[in-house]
Amino acid sequence: MKSTFIDSPTMQNRPVLETPNGEKKVLLHSCCAPCAGEVMEAMVASGLELTIFFYNPNIHPKKEYEIRKNENIRYAEQLGIPFVDADYDVQDWFARAKGMEREPERGVRCTMCFDMRFARTALHAYENGFSLYTSSLGISRWKNMEQINDCGTRMAEAYEGVKYWTYNWRKEGGGARMYEIAKREEFYQQEYCGCIYSLRDTNEWREKNGREKIVIGEKFYEEKIV
Ligand code: SF4
Repeated sequence: MKSTFIDSPTMQNRPVLETPNGEKKVLLHSCCAPCAGEVMEAMVASGLELTIFFYNPNIHPKKEYEIRKNENIRYAEQLGIPFVDADYDVQDWFARAKGMEREPERGVRCTMCFDMRFARTALHAYENGFSLYTSSLGISRWKNMEQINDCGTRMAEAYEGVKYWTYNWRKEGGGARMYEIAKREEFYQQEYCGCIYSLRDTNEWREKNGREKIVIGEKFYEEKIV
């Protein structure tokens, strides 16, 4: 029988999280189920009351966006976590990305992309009584955590009483547990960051290295049967 998160090894010996000012309620900006899985479990295990805010108009195409979102909803329902499904205002994202189409990952286009997503998350936090918000984005080793923390902190500054939690979700085994959870839950495995330009760049790299192009909706994490 497939294990559940409660009796799984990922729930054993976890560090107890301490929020910056002892906050019990946290708004979690989630980018996808594989990144958010560990963050969600870590907060549940520490008795934090979290709500997921899914706002990712960067994800392209819509089919990929829906798959990523629905995988996250599936796991939120499993853990009994409220899920806020925010807008897919993709035209606004493209307008902001104008002129940055050829920027590399972790560059200025990504700063714009994080700022846009965090500005909306911080606003939701402010309007809905959350004094603390954070994001699953920083858990990925492909991301620059400093860049993400800087964007999250700056976007919180516009809202009095709202703070961005700069916790390093990779530490104390978080990075490894992220993959264990993704395999146990057989999450959809996205193969590029999210936007049309990251899809293009990943495919260009694959072509140069003799690999097949990405096929949307095909790949899922698997738990190895031993
Ligand atoms: S590469 Fe990722 S973070 Fe950067 S702009 Fe594209 S979707 Fe956003």
